[in-house]
Amino acid sequence: MNVQGRLELKPTRERSVLRRHPWIMSGAVGRLYGDPRPGDTVTVTTADGEALGHAAYSPASSIRARMWSFDPDRSIDEAHMTERITTAIVRRNGLVRDGDAVRLVFAEADDLPGLVVDRYGDTVVMQCNTVGADRWRDTFADALADLPGVSCVVERSDSDSRSREGLDDRSGVVRGRLPERVWAVEGGRRYVVDVEHGHKTGFYVDQRDGRSLLASHCAGRRVLNVFGYTGSFSVVAAANGAASITTIDSSGPALAVARLNGEANGVDIGELVEADAFTELRRLRDRRAQFDVVLLDPPKLATGAAQVDKATRAYKDINLLGAKLLAPGGLLFTWSCSGAVTAELFRKVVAGAAADAKRDLRVVARLGQPADHPVPLSFPEAEYLKGLVLRAD
Ligand code: SAH
Repeated sequence: MNVQGRLELKPTRERSVLRRHPWIMSGAVGRLYGDPRPGDTVTVTTADGEALGHAAYSPASSIRARMWSFDPDRSIDEAHMTERITTAIVRRNGLVRDGDAVRLVFAEADDLPGLVVDRYGDTVVMQCNTVGADRWRDTFADALADLPGVSCVVERSDSDSRSREGLDDRSGVVRGRLPERVWAVEGGRRYVVDVEHGHKTGFYVDQRDGRSLLASHCAGRRVLNVFGYTGSFSVVAAANGAASITTIDSSGPALAVARLNGEANGVDIGELVEADAFTELRRLRDRRAQFDVVLLDPPKLATGAAQVDKATRAYKDINLLGAKLLAPGGLLFTWSCSGAVTAELFRKVVAGAAADAKRDLRVVARLGQPADHPVPLSFPEAEYLKGLVLRAD
Protein backbone atom coordinates (compact mmCIF):
# COMPACT_ATOMS: atom_id res chain seq x y z
CA MET A 1 0.00 0.00 0.00
CA ASN A 2 1.42 3.33 -1.16
CA VAL A 3 0.64 5.34 1.95
CA GLN A 4 2.97 7.92 3.42
CA GLY A 5 1.13 8.86 6.57
CA ARG A 6 -2.05 8.82 8.59
CA LEU A 7 -4.42 11.70 9.08
CA GLU A 8 -6.53 11.29 12.19
CA LEU A 9 -9.73 13.34 12.32
CA LYS A 10 -11.01 15.12 15.40
CA PRO A 11 -13.79 13.33 17.29
CA THR A 12 -17.12 13.37 15.35
CA ARG A 13 -15.49 14.97 12.31
CA GLU A 14 -15.75 11.71 10.33
CA ARG A 15 -19.40 12.40 9.56
CA SER A 16 -18.90 14.12 6.23
CA VAL A 17 -16.43 11.46 5.11
CA LEU A 18 -18.97 8.78 5.98
CA ARG A 19 -21.45 10.62 3.73
CA ARG A 20 -18.77 10.35 1.02
CA HIS A 21 -17.88 14.00 0.89
CA PRO A 22 -14.31 14.11 -0.44
CA TRP A 23 -12.94 17.19 1.37
CA ILE A 24 -11.20 17.21 4.73
CA MET A 25 -10.93 20.78 5.96
CA SER A 26 -7.96 21.83 8.05
CA GLY A 27 -10.22 22.35 11.10
CA ALA A 28 -11.28 18.70 11.05
CA VAL A 29 -7.74 17.37 11.35
CA GLY A 30 -6.82 16.05 14.79
CA ARG A 31 -3.32 14.64 14.36
CA LEU A 32 -1.01 13.76 11.55
CA TYR A 33 1.26 10.71 11.81
CA GLY A 34 4.30 10.14 9.64
CA ASP A 35 5.85 12.85 7.57
CA PRO A 36 3.75 13.13 4.41
CA ARG A 37 4.89 15.61 1.77
CA PRO A 38 2.49 17.64 -0.38
CA GLY A 39 0.56 15.33 -2.68
CA ASP A 40 1.39 12.17 -0.74
CA THR A 41 -1.31 9.65 0.03
CA VAL A 42 -2.48 9.42 3.63
CA THR A 43 -4.88 7.03 5.30
CA VAL A 44 -7.75 8.93 6.88
CA THR A 45 -9.00 7.59 10.20
CA THR A 46 -11.52 8.50 12.85
CA ALA A 47 -10.28 9.76 16.23
CA ASP A 48 -10.54 6.10 17.34
CA GLY A 49 -8.20 4.97 14.58
CA GLU A 50 -10.81 3.37 12.32
CA ALA A 51 -9.72 3.68 8.67
CA LEU A 52 -12.13 5.53 6.38
CA GLY A 53 -10.16 5.55 3.15
CA HIS A 54 -7.22 7.33 1.54
CA ALA A 55 -6.66 10.92 0.56
CA ALA A 56 -4.16 13.26 -1.09
CA TYR A 57 -2.46 15.43 1.51
CA SER A 58 -2.30 19.15 0.76
CA PRO A 59 -0.65 21.11 3.60
CA ALA A 60 -0.87 24.51 1.86
CA SER A 61 -4.63 24.42 1.31
CA SER A 62 -7.49 24.87 3.78
CA ILE A 63 -8.87 21.76 2.10
CA ARG A 64 -6.15 19.76 3.82
CA ALA A 65 -6.87 16.44 2.13
CA ARG A 66 -9.04 15.15 -0.69
CA MET A 67 -10.30 11.58 -0.73
CA TRP A 68 -9.00 9.31 -3.48
CA SER A 69 -11.09 6.43 -2.17
CA PHE A 70 -13.53 5.66 0.61
CA ASP A 71 -12.35 2.03 0.67
CA PRO A 72 -9.52 1.51 3.20
CA ASP A 73 -8.45 -1.67 1.38
CA ARG A 74 -7.97 0.09 -1.92
CA SER A 75 -4.40 0.60 -3.18
CA ILE A 76 -3.83 4.14 -4.39
CA ASP A 77 -1.59 3.50 -7.36
CA GLU A 78 -1.39 3.85 -11.12
CA ALA A 79 -3.99 1.12 -11.67
CA HIS A 80 -6.40 2.99 -9.40
CA MET A 81 -6.00 6.26 -11.29
CA THR A 82 -6.32 4.60 -14.69
CA GLU A 83 -9.44 2.74 -13.60
CA ARG A 84 -11.02 5.95 -12.32
CA ILE A 85 -10.42 7.61 -15.68
CA THR A 86 -12.01 4.67 -17.47
CA THR A 87 -15.01 4.80 -15.15
CA ALA A 88 -15.43 8.52 -15.76
CA ILE A 89 -15.46 7.95 -19.51
CA VAL A 90 -17.94 5.07 -19.30
CA ARG A 91 -20.15 7.31 -17.14
CA ARG A 92 -20.53 9.63 -20.16
CA ASN A 93 -21.52 6.95 -22.66
CA GLY A 94 -24.51 8.12 -24.62
CA LEU A 95 -24.79 11.44 -22.75
CA VAL A 96 -23.21 13.71 -25.34
CA ARG A 97 -24.65 12.94 -28.74
CA ASP A 98 -24.10 16.00 -30.84
CA GLY A 99 -20.35 16.39 -31.10
CA ASP A 100 -16.86 15.50 -30.00
CA ALA A 101 -16.18 18.19 -27.39
CA VAL A 102 -16.70 16.45 -24.06
CA ARG A 103 -15.60 16.85 -20.47
CA LEU A 104 -14.19 13.41 -19.76
CA VAL A 105 -13.18 13.96 -16.13
CA PHE A 106 -14.74 16.50 -13.76
CA ALA A 107 -12.49 16.29 -10.72
CA GLU A 108 -14.22 15.44 -7.42
CA ALA A 109 -17.43 14.73 -9.35
CA ASP A 110 -15.61 11.78 -10.96
CA ASP A 111 -13.73 10.69 -7.82
CA LEU A 112 -10.52 12.22 -9.16
CA PRO A 113 -10.06 15.35 -7.02
CA GLY A 114 -8.22 18.12 -8.84
CA LEU A 115 -8.19 16.50 -12.29
CA VAL A 116 -10.14 18.08 -15.13
CA VAL A 117 -10.00 16.60 -18.64
CA ASP A 118 -11.70 17.88 -21.78
CA ARG A 119 -11.55 16.10 -25.11
CA TYR A 120 -11.73 17.81 -28.50
CA GLY A 121 -11.70 15.08 -31.12
CA ASP A 122 -8.21 13.55 -31.15
CA THR A 123 -6.81 16.04 -28.65
CA VAL A 124 -7.18 15.82 -24.90
CA VAL A 125 -6.48 18.66 -22.48
CA MET A 126 -5.84 17.94 -18.81
CA GLN A 127 -5.59 20.23 -15.82
CA CYS A 128 -4.05 19.18 -12.52
CA ASN A 129 -5.49 21.75 -10.11
CA THR A 130 -4.32 20.29 -6.81
CA VAL A 131 -1.06 19.01 -5.43
CA GLY A 132 -2.58 15.53 -5.19
CA ALA A 133 -3.54 15.49 -8.86
CA ASP A 134 -0.17 16.99 -9.77
CA ARG A 135 1.58 14.04 -8.17
CA TRP A 136 -0.12 11.66 -10.63
CA ARG A 137 0.20 13.78 -13.76
CA ASP A 138 2.35 11.27 -15.65
CA THR A 139 -0.06 8.47 -14.89
CA PHE A 140 -2.98 10.61 -16.07
CA ALA A 141 -1.12 11.62 -19.23
CA ASP A 142 -0.28 7.98 -20.04
CA ALA A 143 -3.86 6.81 -19.44
CA LEU A 144 -5.28 9.61 -21.61
CA ALA A 145 -2.73 9.03 -24.40
CA ASP A 146 -3.79 5.35 -24.44
CA LEU A 147 -7.46 6.15 -25.11
CA PRO A 148 -8.65 5.01 -28.53
CA GLY A 149 -8.34 7.79 -31.10
CA VAL A 150 -6.30 10.16 -28.93
CA SER A 151 -3.20 11.53 -30.65
CA CYS A 152 -2.21 14.37 -28.36
CA VAL A 153 -2.39 15.21 -24.66
CA VAL A 154 -1.92 18.82 -23.60
CA GLU A 155 -1.45 19.96 -20.02
CA ARG A 156 -3.03 23.24 -18.94
CA SER A 157 -2.22 23.27 -15.26
CA ASP A 158 -2.44 27.04 -14.92
CA SER A 159 -5.62 27.63 -12.93
CA ASP A 160 -5.94 30.01 -9.97
CA SER A 161 -6.43 27.08 -7.65
CA ARG A 162 -2.84 25.91 -8.15
CA SER A 163 -1.39 28.87 -6.28
CA ARG A 164 -3.64 28.03 -3.30
CA GLU A 165 -2.01 24.59 -3.37
CA GLY A 166 1.50 26.03 -3.49
CA LEU A 167 2.03 24.93 -7.10
CA ASP A 168 3.53 26.76 -10.07
CA ASP A 169 1.84 26.75 -13.46
CA ARG A 170 2.72 24.07 -15.98
CA SER A 171 1.46 23.96 -19.55
CA GLY A 172 2.38 22.33 -22.82
CA VAL A 173 2.07 19.23 -24.93
CA VAL A 174 2.86 16.20 -22.76
CA ARG A 175 2.12 13.29 -25.14
CA GLY A 176 1.95 13.06 -28.92
CA ARG A 177 1.88 15.97 -31.36
CA LEU A 178 -0.51 18.87 -31.44
CA PRO A 179 -2.48 19.06 -34.68
CA GLU A 180 -2.18 22.35 -36.57
CA ARG A 181 -5.68 23.22 -35.49
CA VAL A 182 -7.88 21.75 -32.79
CA TRP A 183 -11.65 21.88 -33.31
CA ALA A 184 -14.58 21.42 -30.99
CA VAL A 185 -17.45 19.95 -32.97
CA GLU A 186 -20.91 20.48 -31.52
CA GLY A 187 -24.42 20.73 -32.83
CA GLY A 188 -23.30 20.51 -36.44
CA ARG A 189 -20.86 23.41 -36.06
CA ARG A 190 -17.15 23.59 -35.35
CA TYR A 191 -15.13 25.91 -33.21
CA VAL A 192 -11.41 26.62 -33.17
CA VAL A 193 -9.96 25.69 -29.78
CA ASP A 194 -6.74 27.35 -28.69
CA VAL A 195 -5.74 24.58 -26.31
CA GLU A 196 -2.39 26.20 -25.51
CA HIS A 197 -3.48 29.74 -24.69
CA GLY A 198 -7.29 29.83 -24.51
CA HIS A 199 -9.28 30.06 -21.29
CA LYS A 200 -9.51 26.94 -19.13
CA THR A 201 -8.93 24.09 -21.61
CA GLY A 202 -9.66 26.38 -24.57
CA PHE A 203 -13.42 26.13 -25.04
CA TYR A 204 -16.49 26.45 -22.80
CA VAL A 205 -17.75 22.90 -23.16
CA ASP A 206 -20.05 23.62 -20.21
CA GLN A 207 -22.26 25.97 -22.27
CA ARG A 208 -23.43 23.21 -24.63
CA ASP A 209 -27.02 23.32 -23.33
CA GLY A 210 -27.08 27.10 -23.53
CA ARG A 211 -25.95 27.04 -27.15
CA SER A 212 -28.56 24.40 -27.93
CA LEU A 213 -31.39 26.43 -26.37
CA LEU A 214 -30.26 29.66 -27.99
CA ALA A 215 -30.47 28.03 -31.42
CA SER A 216 -34.26 28.03 -31.30
CA HIS A 217 -34.58 31.67 -30.22
CA CYS A 218 -32.56 33.68 -32.74
CA ALA A 219 -34.43 33.73 -36.03
CA GLY A 220 -35.00 37.33 -37.07
CA ARG A 221 -33.72 38.62 -33.72
CA ARG A 222 -31.15 41.26 -32.83
CA VAL A 223 -28.66 39.45 -30.59
CA LEU A 224 -26.22 41.01 -28.11
CA ASN A 225 -23.59 38.54 -26.89
CA VAL A 226 -21.80 40.02 -23.87
CA PHE A 227 -18.61 38.28 -22.65
CA GLY A 228 -18.59 36.47 -25.98
CA TYR A 229 -15.08 34.92 -25.80
CA THR A 230 -14.52 33.04 -29.08
CA GLY A 231 -18.07 33.67 -30.20
CA SER A 232 -19.73 30.30 -29.74
CA PHE A 233 -23.12 31.90 -29.03
CA SER A 234 -22.61 34.31 -31.91
CA VAL A 235 -21.97 31.46 -34.35
CA VAL A 236 -25.12 29.69 -33.14
CA ALA A 237 -27.10 32.92 -33.54
CA ALA A 238 -25.74 33.54 -37.03
CA ALA A 239 -26.38 29.97 -38.12
CA ASN A 240 -29.96 30.21 -36.88
CA GLY A 241 -31.02 33.32 -38.69
CA ALA A 242 -30.34 36.19 -36.29
CA ALA A 243 -31.08 39.58 -37.86
CA SER A 244 -27.96 41.12 -36.32
CA ILE A 245 -25.29 40.09 -33.83
CA THR A 246 -23.02 42.17 -31.62
CA THR A 247 -20.32 40.41 -29.61
CA ILE A 248 -18.54 42.19 -26.77
CA ASP A 249 -15.38 40.93 -25.09
CA SER A 250 -12.35 42.60 -23.54
CA SER A 251 -9.99 40.08 -25.15
CA GLY A 252 -8.79 40.92 -28.65
CA PRO A 253 -7.29 37.44 -29.23
CA ALA A 254 -10.60 35.81 -28.24
CA LEU A 255 -12.49 38.00 -30.70
CA ALA A 256 -9.98 37.16 -33.43
CA VAL A 257 -10.83 33.49 -32.89
CA ALA A 258 -14.53 34.42 -32.94
CA ARG A 259 -14.00 35.86 -36.42
CA LEU A 260 -12.32 32.58 -37.49
CA ASN A 261 -15.22 30.62 -36.05
CA GLY A 262 -17.69 32.58 -38.14
CA GLU A 263 -15.66 31.88 -41.26
CA ALA A 264 -15.20 28.19 -40.41
CA ASN A 265 -18.98 27.84 -40.23
CA GLY A 266 -19.70 29.94 -43.29
CA VAL A 267 -21.67 32.55 -41.37
CA ASP A 268 -21.34 36.27 -40.74
CA ILE A 269 -21.14 36.77 -37.00
CA GLY A 270 -21.56 40.50 -37.28
CA GLU A 271 -19.98 43.17 -35.14
CA LEU A 272 -17.13 42.38 -32.74
CA VAL A 273 -16.52 44.95 -30.04
CA GLU A 274 -13.31 44.79 -28.01
CA ALA A 275 -14.28 46.63 -24.85
CA ASP A 276 -14.96 46.38 -21.16
CA ALA A 277 -18.50 45.04 -20.94
CA PHE A 278 -19.48 47.22 -17.99
CA THR A 279 -18.54 50.35 -19.94
CA GLU A 280 -19.92 49.19 -23.28
CA LEU A 281 -23.29 48.21 -21.79
CA ARG A 282 -23.59 51.74 -20.35
CA ARG A 283 -22.75 53.21 -23.72
CA LEU A 284 -25.44 51.08 -25.39
CA ARG A 285 -27.93 52.10 -22.71
CA ASP A 286 -27.13 55.78 -23.20
CA ARG A 287 -27.69 55.34 -26.93
CA ARG A 288 -31.03 53.65 -26.11
CA ALA A 289 -30.02 50.58 -28.10
CA GLN A 290 -32.49 47.67 -28.11
CA PHE A 291 -31.95 43.95 -28.60
CA ASP A 292 -34.30 40.98 -28.79
CA VAL A 293 -31.82 38.57 -27.20
CA VAL A 294 -29.18 39.58 -24.65
CA LEU A 295 -26.64 37.02 -23.45
CA LEU A 296 -24.64 37.70 -20.28
CA ASP A 297 -21.98 35.07 -19.59
CA PRO A 298 -19.37 36.77 -17.41
CA PRO A 299 -16.25 35.05 -16.08
CA LYS A 300 -16.24 33.70 -12.54
CA LEU A 301 -16.80 36.88 -10.54
CA ALA A 302 -16.43 35.25 -7.10
CA THR A 303 -13.66 32.72 -6.53
CA GLY A 304 -14.69 32.15 -2.94
CA ALA A 305 -17.09 33.16 -0.18
CA ALA A 306 -15.07 36.31 0.54
CA GLN A 307 -15.86 37.75 -2.90
CA VAL A 308 -19.59 37.03 -2.95
CA ASP A 309 -20.68 40.56 -1.98
CA LYS A 310 -18.51 42.22 -4.57
CA ALA A 311 -19.58 39.68 -7.19
CA THR A 312 -23.28 40.20 -6.51
CA ARG A 313 -22.84 43.94 -7.11
CA ALA A 314 -21.22 43.19 -10.48
CA TYR A 315 -23.93 40.67 -11.41
CA LYS A 316 -26.57 43.21 -10.48
CA ASP A 317 -24.89 45.90 -12.55
CA ILE A 318 -24.69 43.91 -15.77
CA ASN A 319 -28.14 42.40 -15.37
CA LEU A 320 -29.67 45.82 -14.74
CA LEU A 321 -28.06 47.14 -17.91
CA GLY A 322 -28.93 43.98 -19.85
CA ALA A 323 -32.59 44.22 -18.78
CA LYS A 324 -32.75 47.84 -19.93
CA LEU A 325 -31.48 46.88 -23.38
CA LEU A 326 -34.25 44.31 -23.94
CA ALA A 327 -36.86 45.15 -26.54
CA PRO A 328 -40.46 44.27 -25.61
CA GLY A 329 -40.80 40.47 -25.73
CA GLY A 330 -37.03 40.11 -25.63
CA LEU A 331 -35.10 37.31 -23.94
CA LEU A 332 -32.30 37.70 -21.41
CA PHE A 333 -29.98 34.69 -21.09
CA THR A 334 -27.99 35.31 -17.92
CA TRP A 335 -25.47 33.10 -16.16
CA SER A 336 -23.26 32.88 -13.11
CA CYS A 337 -20.41 30.38 -13.09
CA SER A 338 -19.30 31.31 -9.55
CA GLY A 339 -19.76 28.25 -7.37
CA ALA A 340 -19.83 30.52 -4.31
CA VAL A 341 -22.98 32.26 -5.61
CA THR A 342 -25.93 29.91 -5.11
CA ALA A 343 -28.75 29.56 -7.62
CA GLU A 344 -31.13 31.22 -5.18
CA LEU A 345 -28.80 34.15 -4.51
CA PHE A 346 -28.30 34.60 -8.24
CA ARG A 347 -32.06 34.61 -8.83
CA LYS A 348 -32.48 37.27 -6.13
CA VAL A 349 -29.74 39.43 -7.58
CA VAL A 350 -31.26 39.27 -11.05
CA ALA A 351 -34.72 39.99 -9.57
CA GLY A 352 -33.28 43.10 -7.90
CA ALA A 353 -31.70 44.16 -11.18
CA ALA A 354 -34.99 43.71 -13.06
CA ALA A 355 -36.86 45.73 -10.43
CA ASP A 356 -34.34 48.58 -10.65
CA ALA A 357 -34.53 48.47 -14.45
CA LYS A 358 -38.34 48.65 -14.08
CA ARG A 359 -38.78 45.56 -16.25
CA ASP A 360 -41.10 42.62 -15.63
CA LEU A 361 -39.09 39.50 -16.31
CA ARG A 362 -40.35 35.92 -16.17
CA VAL A 363 -38.25 32.78 -15.98
CA VAL A 364 -39.01 30.74 -19.10
CA ALA A 365 -36.13 28.28 -18.74
CA ARG A 366 -33.29 27.43 -16.40
CA LEU A 367 -29.89 26.34 -17.58
CA GLY A 368 -27.10 24.55 -15.77
CA GLN A 369 -24.24 22.22 -16.35
CA PRO A 370 -24.63 19.67 -19.12
CA ALA A 371 -24.59 15.94 -18.48
CA ASP A 372 -20.80 15.63 -18.77
CA HIS A 373 -20.42 17.97 -15.76
CA PRO A 374 -22.38 15.85 -13.29
CA VAL A 375 -23.01 16.86 -9.68
CA PRO A 376 -22.79 13.99 -7.16
CA LEU A 377 -25.50 14.16 -4.51
CA SER A 378 -22.72 13.78 -1.94
CA PHE A 379 -20.77 16.73 -3.39
CA PRO A 380 -23.03 19.71 -4.15
CA GLU A 381 -19.93 21.92 -4.48
CA ALA A 382 -19.56 20.53 -8.02
CA GLU A 383 -22.48 22.70 -9.08
CA TYR A 384 -21.26 26.06 -10.32
CA LEU A 385 -23.05 27.05 -13.51
CA LYS A 386 -26.56 28.40 -13.31
CA GLY A 387 -28.44 30.30 -15.94
CA LEU A 388 -31.84 31.92 -16.24
CA VAL A 389 -33.67 32.59 -19.47
CA LEU A 390 -36.02 35.50 -18.83
CA ARG A 391 -38.69 36.99 -21.04
CA ALA A 392 -39.42 40.67 -20.82
CA ASP A 393 -42.96 42.02 -21.20
N1 SAH B 1 -19.81 32.94 -23.53
C1 SAH B 1 -18.47 32.49 -23.84
C2 SAH B 1 -17.65 32.24 -22.59
C3 SAH B 1 -17.46 33.48 -21.74
S1 SAH B 1 -16.05 33.42 -20.75
C4 SAH B 1 -18.55 31.32 -24.79
O1 SAH B 1 -19.59 31.08 -25.35
O2 SAH B 1 -17.55 30.65 -25.02
C5 SAH B 1 -15.92 35.05 -20.15
C6 SAH B 1 -15.37 36.04 -21.13
O3 SAH B 1 -15.46 37.32 -20.53
C7 SAH B 1 -13.93 35.87 -21.53
O4 SAH B 1 -13.82 35.78 -22.92
C8 SAH B 1 -13.22 37.17 -21.05
O5 SAH B 1 -12.26 37.64 -21.97
C9 SAH B 1 -14.38 38.10 -20.96
N2 SAH B 1 -14.24 39.22 -20.02
C10 SAH B 1 -13.78 39.19 -18.77
N3 SAH B 1 -13.92 40.39 -18.18
C11 SAH B 1 -14.49 41.21 -19.11
C12 SAH B 1 -14.91 42.55 -19.11
N4 SAH B 1 -14.77 43.33 -18.03
N5 SAH B 1 -15.48 43.03 -20.23
C13 SAH B 1 -15.64 42.26 -21.32
N6 SAH B 1 -15.27 40.98 -21.36
C14 SAH B 1 -14.71 40.46 -20.28
